[in-house]
Amino acid sequence: MGNRLSGKVVVVTGGNRGIGRAIAERLANEEAMVVVGDLFDEHSLPVSVERLAFMRLDVTKEASVRAFVDDVIQKFGRIDVLVNNAGIIVHKSIDEQTGEDWDRLMAVNLRGPFLMAKHVAPEMRRVGLGTIVNIGSVEGFMVNPWHTAYAATKAGMHGLTIGLAVDLGPDGIRCNTVCPGWIGTDLNRSYLELHPDRSLVERELAQLHPVGRIGSPKDIANAVLWLASDESSFVSGEMIAVDGARTKKISLPSILDEEYRAKLTKP
Ligand code: NDP
Repeated sequence: MGNRLSGKVVVVTGGNRGIGRAIAERLANEEAMVVVGDLFDEHSLPVSVERLAFMRLDVTKEASVRAFVDDVIQKFGRIDVLVNNAGIIVHKSIDEQTGEDWDRLMAVNLRGPFLMAKHVAPEMRRVGLGTIVNIGSVEGFMVNPWHTAYAATKAGMHGLTIGLAVDLGPDGIRCNTVCPGWIGTDLNRSYLELHPDRSLVERELAQLHPVGRIGSPKDIANAVLWLASDESSFVSGEMIAVDGARTKKISLPSILDEEYRAKLTKP
């Protein structure tokens, strides 16, 4: 608990669960007023608690984005930080993937962040300062099988990030993207369920990371906090991988990798 975001109003899209929820709670713990926008209906809208408010938002629909931003401004007066976190994934081969799958992924993962930035930027400009933090993925740099469309949305987010950083920089608005590696949430559960021995898969997955473990939503929330705070005031237009160095390691045949690990752990 600290006060690094004292007085700031933060919006987190898709913040009802997973990484978004961890970001919302971490930033609220730094004295920000955090508004979570998610696909709630009238029965699923959580009760707002101190420093954490919940509002209905579908990032794919411009009317919903506009109404959400208007609501936040009416209730809280300003928006200092926008976290574009809402995202979906589709695991399908290129043969199975349909045009509808492609459009849905693009709508949530890329059009949504664009629409949010477009409608929030005028509010940030009004106060002359603001920060946009996108949640991309290491799959904007590399790709797992069956993720062609997902990877395209995340690589597209890199272009969106540098475009916003350049266009909005003169207005005092920064834009960066955190690229998570493997984080334990519902989003990637279906991948783990491909194999019956879940604990074996988890062990092998951890070994792919030089730091020896997969990430947690809190790891991402800590990186977002830094980018949202004034401590990063000269950082804009960057894609920052938070992945335990997984994308820095060149693959070896697994048998050689095991030998190497065995040598490392010898007393
Ligand atoms: P989850 O599936 O756990 O949570 C996603 C959240 O986004 C849900 O609350 C979901 O609502 C919401 N959402 C989906 N569509 C919309 C929409 N149209 N408008 C508003 N909210 C929406 O995912 P994660 O927490 O794992 O992922 C969060 C972000 O992190 C995503 O952008 C993802 O691509 C990225 N990421 C995740 C990684 C991981 O390993 N988990 C790795 C790299 C990147 P609902 O519950 O109603 O579906």
